[in-house]
Amino acid sequence: MSEATKSNLLQGVTGDWEVVVGMEIHAQVQSKAKLFSGASTEFGAEPNANVSLVDAAMPGMLPVINAYCVEQAVRTGLGLKAQINLRSIFDRKNYFYPDLPQGYQISQFKDPIVGEGEVIVDMPDGTSFTVGIERLHLEQDAGKSIHDLHPSKSYVDLNRSGIALMEIVSKPDIRSSEQAAAYLRKVRAIVRYLGTCDGNMEQGSMRADVNVSVRRPGDPLGTRCEMKNINSMRFVQQAIDYEAMRQIEIIEAGGTINQETRLFDSRNGETRTMRSKEEAHDYRYFPDPDLLPLEFDQAWVDEIASGLPELPDDKKARFIADMGLSPYDASVLVSDKSRAEFFEAVAEGRDAKLAANWVTGEFFGALNKNGTAIEDSPISAAQLGALVDLISDDTISGKIAKQVFEIMFETGEEPAKIVEDKGLKQVTDTGAIEAAVDEIIAANPDKVAEYKEKPKMFGWFVGQVMKVTQGKANPKAVNDILKAKLDG
Ligand code: MN
Repeated sequence: MSEATKSNLLQGVTGDWEVVVGMEIHAQVQSKAKLFSGASTEFGAEPNANVSLVDAAMPGMLPVINAYCVEQAVRTGLGLKAQINLRSIFDRKNYFYPDLPQGYQISQFKDPIVGEGEVIVDMPDGTSFTVGIERLHLEQDAGKSIHDLHPSKSYVDLNRSGIALMEIVSKPDIRSSEQAAAYLRKVRAIVRYLGTCDGNMEQGSMRADVNVSVRRPGDPLGTRCEMKNINSMRFVQQAIDYEAMRQIEIIEAGGTINQETRLFDSRNGETRTMRSKEEAHDYRYFPDPDLLPLEFDQAWVDEIASGLPELPDDKKARFIADMGLSPYDASVLVSDKSRAEFFEAVAEGRDAKLAANWVTGEFFGALNKNGTAIEDSPISAAQLGALVDLISDDTISGKIAKQVFEIMFETGEEPAKIVEDKGLKQVTDTGAIEAAVDEIIAANPDKVAEYKEKPKMFGWFVGQVMKVTQGKANPKAVNDILKAKLDG
């Protein structure tokens, strides 16, 4: 493959080739108990501490559906603007693995709880695209095999065994690795707004299986390869980029793609064969005889729908229409629930645009620079709001406010106290400003003469007055007084 093709692909410009991606996201249901047992789902517990007899698949144990998990799946389906199926079936997906004591996973196959839906994804350049949702089904998570604790033995931790997962299957509507990451981010934002999954990828609460194929634009879909269980946005992007280039190189060299499951190795950013289609499992799905079909009525769904929180798309529309924010600022602010909440608290009863500038500008900038999560911010929304108030009522200028902000971020002190202690109050007393202006004019007759020729020199005088007043003079007053004195 040429360097140009490679570089285009990395920028999502596919040229001769089109990358086609579909994703299966496994999102852990936010619930205290597992899908079919009362065992705890707490993260980080001692190995095998959260295992009931059902999770350990002791003979004669029967699964009992957790109604709260069902409600969470319905909420998520509604958030994905999807069809909610009033009747769905739990099936057994049969396979053998040491961390799967039942010998099958209880999942949903032909009749999932949620059908088709759609997700609108905003890109950083301001464009957006839609990803179709094929389905969402409920299933159990498996346990975890641990191979690195002992040189010759493997251990099994069943704490995850039986935890409720929502598998969200997209249509192959994604066309670049960048779009894939943006889609995953959007789904994560939606489940976080809904409170149905914490979206914590580092803890494995959200993982993605990524299907990648390539084709010449207009051709039918190419053969796809699947990469399973990718647990970071960056790895999703790397896996797709690597895989697309690998496939293009094979096809350009006259070869064909084998449909297979490939492993993404995050250490070198490469993928390698795990198993081919010939070895693919026949899971012999059949309805689980221990569980009745899952049925509920539309009235219950309607009740859940009426209690949904405002979701990112609606919030964004409201920020633009009611608060006058730019589409870009609005989408940055709604991209994360805690960001949106912080902004709304700052903007409450204030100039929303000024609040948005401070939140997206100085505030997010400082968080990024320091690698601080918004939850751990040293500045509260109330404090940032108080700073915005000091600007709005002309106590300080925007420039001084940046200084105050830095001190706030370092010390967590109240802005009014910082302004008071450091004597940063804006000088609006025209007498004091006039005195400063007179002083500058008297000391610089040459500059005054120059100004008569070059009106651009005005800026130099403003700078001098600001210097003398340590940046505290009200800029408008400085302009007015200077103009009157120099032109008069
Ligand atoms: Mn699955």
